[in-house]
Amino acid sequence: MPRIPVVDQPTCIGCEMCAQICPEVFRMVDAPGAGHDHKSQVYNPEGASEEKIEEAMDNCPVSCIYWEEK
Ligand code: SF4
Repeated sequence: MPRIPVVDQPTCIGCEMCAQICPEVFRMVDAPGAGHDHKSQVYNPEGASEEKIEEAMDNCPVSCIYWEEK
């Protein structure tokens, strides 16, 4: 895969949508003091198909998941 998903954590509002849609790639991590209790983290960037990752991106309410070239 030529590109990997990245979460802009300062923008993430911790809604958990991406981790529910694509738990093979995204998980929630504690983010004390960051304005929200937890935020999304990409822990396995190649754990799912690009289509499934795109679905998570499309459903992020603040559009803070993007592709980065490897
Ligand atoms: S869908 Fe977007 S705002 Fe929600 S947890 Fe994932 S990265 Fe954060």
